[in-house]
Amino acid sequence: MQNKLFINGRFVDALSGVTIEVLNPHDGSVITHIAAAEAADVDLAVEAAARAFPAWSRMAAAQRGRLLLRLADAIEANAEELARLESLDTGHPIRDSRALDVPRTAACFRYFGGMADKLEGAVVPVEPGFLNYVQRAPIGVVGQIVPWNFPLMFTSWKMGPALAAGNTVVIKPSELTPLSSLRIAELMAEVGFPDGVVNVVPGYGHTAGQRLAEHPRVGKIAFTGSTATGRSIVEASQGNLKRVQLELGGKGANIVFDDADLDAAVNGAAWAIFHNQGQACIAGSRLVLHERIADAFLDRFSALAASIRLGNPLDPETEMGPLTSAQHRDRVLSYVDVAREQGGQLLAGGKAPAAASLAQGYYVEPTIVQARPDDRVAQEEVFGPVVTVLRFGSDEQALAIANGTPYGLGSGLWTRDLSRAHKLAGAMQAGMCWINCYKRVSPGSPFGGVGQSGYGREMGFEAMRDYTEARSVWVNVDAQIAPHYRR
Ligand code: NDP
Repeated sequence: MQNKLFINGRFVDALSGVTIEVLNPHDGSVITHIAAAEAADVDLAVEAAARAFPAWSRMAAAQRGRLLLRLADAIEANAEELARLESLDTGHPIRDSRALDVPRTAACFRYFGGMADKLEGAVVPVEPGFLNYVQRAPIGVVGQIVPWNFPLMFTSWKMGPALAAGNTVVIKPSELTPLSSLRIAELMAEVGFPDGVVNVVPGYGHTAGQRLAEHPRVGKIAFTGSTATGRSIVEASQGNLKRVQLELGGKGANIVFDDADLDAAVNGAAWAIFHNQGQACIAGSRLVLHERIADAFLDRFSALAASIRLGNPLDPETEMGPLTSAQHRDRVLSYVDVAREQGGQLLAGGKAPAAASLAQGYYVEPTIVQARPDDRVAQEEVFGPVVTVLRFGSDEQALAIANGTPYGLGSGLWTRDLSRAHKLAGAMQAGMCWINCYKRVSPGSPFGGVGQSGYGREMGFEAMRDYTEARSVWVNVDAQIAPHYRR
């Protein structure tokens, strides 16, 4: 298990020698100690990335792509090990790490590997006699800050498009969950990525993250995390006016109409909030129910929630694991009190499970709260297995509730009425809308938000384009340019 910084193709200690404990969220035991990058280590990583940039950006795009394809193969060849590492470090149930995190990570690297030599420029029809063409050139060194909720998958979402486009990378995983990104770095070295093209510097946000965001040689910073930290990233980026891409919080509205297939909606709504213990920016954390079906829906939904199997993430039978840290578990549980204080009604959960086998871990039961649209629990991102139920009577009311927070990331609609579905999908203030499904992602489909959920997109051609600059080149082919100054 790698526990050092990865700088210039080598695993090294932090200059300060400081290390941080990495804990198993299932029982609080120490998995390992990782080197903690600080500003000076980030500087070394940026210098390494800057040195690697000229050769990497001039390498044939197809060759860069081939390395990404080899990485995808290596991830698949080491799938079980990566799945176990991710589950150990984050608390993801192993069935999800095996079926989702690892295959999605490989698929994303493979997608961008294939795309590396397909991002074309343009020829612009300008005045006769001139040729104007537009090249897509890489930005240079890019900084990427990933959080602790999907650390493995997010390395591919962030690094895939950046590397395919010819940038070099310094990536900071959360110090809570650095293990899978360090293993990816090791695989990258094995499949032949040149030294310095990717550097991995786990460390605290206020030191390592802050330095990366403000570093004058970093041309773009891509960040996934809270809206509050997103704002400080923007401030830190101002020194050299670096580009910023932000994927921030969410408060996904998942609307169930009275004509929906209730079996599918109950199951999909439970997945929308309880997958990864609700620690997802796109979680369907507001369940917006038509008043005609709300009671029947809640009976089935509560029964399903109560039956979800909590347990050790490494047990293949486990459907819900622990939250990733004790501090975050406490924050999530504090929202149950917030909801109660504002008159909310607790319908299920709201506490740690009673089982002695889970007592040392950071577990929270699937929790259902009924509240009003303006209550804090319906407005603020809880980021845990806590769903807020809201009721509506008309399509207009449903839309007003859905669009009634400052966020705009994921959203869902469950209805058999096609015209309503498409009309509302277009009216939702959200970067993504799922109709009769929830939480689908694919490397080809742009992912990102509006409003306080951030800007810029991950995945798809959009993402790769966003890791390039458009450069316009003018050529005088046979134009007769009248002299500007007649002498
Ligand atoms: P943060 O936004 O504070 O942290 C996310 C990442 O940013 C971490 O790697 C963190 O490092 C780093 N970071 C923190 N401060 C800075 C800084 N000044 N400059 C650069 N990087 C920084 O989120 P938290 O982990 O504190 O979680 C709080 C809430 O944020 C959650 O409850 C949830 O609502 C939201 N969140 C949203 C995520 C999403 O997917 N959109 C992911 C994670 C959180 P460090 O670990 O050292 O703090």
